[in-house]
Amino acid sequence: VGSPHSGSSDSVLSSDSLPGGGLLKVMLLGESGVGKTALAGIFAGLEESQPQVLQSAEDTYERRILVDNEEATLVVYDIWESMDSCGWIQENCLQMGDAYVIVFSVTDRVSFNKVTELLLRLRTSRPNQDLPIILVGNKSDLVRSREVSREEGRSVAVMLNCKYVETSAALDHNTRELFEGVVRQIRLRRGETRE
Ligand code: GDP
Repeated sequence: VGSPHSGSSDSVLSSDSLPGGGLLKVMLLGESGVGKTALAGIFAGLEESQPQVLQSAEDTYERRILVDNEEATLVVYDIWESMDSCGWIQENCLQMGDAYVIVFSVTDRVSFNKVTELLLRLRTSRPNQDLPIILVGNKSDLVRSREVSREEGRSVAVMLNCKYVETSAALDHNTRELFEGVVRQIRLRRGETRE
């Protein structure tokens, strides 16, 4: 019986040598209560393409996933709302991401109204960079308390030039697609997987 993998001690560090290489840092942004931590938790529970134990610090989740037959190592940061009196963490967040997931709740119009401001802040801190940004309308399962329609979500995403996806962290709906989409958006910009 026994475990098939060797348990090599360098497994944490080996991701830099993967094809398509390195860690892809994904920042979760958005208002309080929209479901960032729930989405991060789902990401943390994703089955890995290789059963190895990778790092999982508090609020930071690292997973290796297979996207279009190619492995990617994502590190998801759920630190946007950390105790941060001088805004240092948020500034770092805006500077260090390889991709951004901006989350609002489809049941909370206020969280949706904040999206534009957040996106402008991001674009201002990374001028002239074509950042992979995915707008997420979460809590799509709460049909009866929906305040933002799919169409509204889509049209804001078009206006702000980012991708749009609706998820339900509660039902685990469209969540894998979200993280796969993040990888694809990064790869598109790096020109790695164009046929
Ligand atoms: P955060 O402040 O953005 O990290 O939001 P949380 O992940 O802490 O979620 C806030 C609340 O919304 C919690 O009670 C979650 O259980 C709930 N929640 C998160 N995502 C969903 C979802 O997709 N559907 C429903 N029904 N509830 C959700």
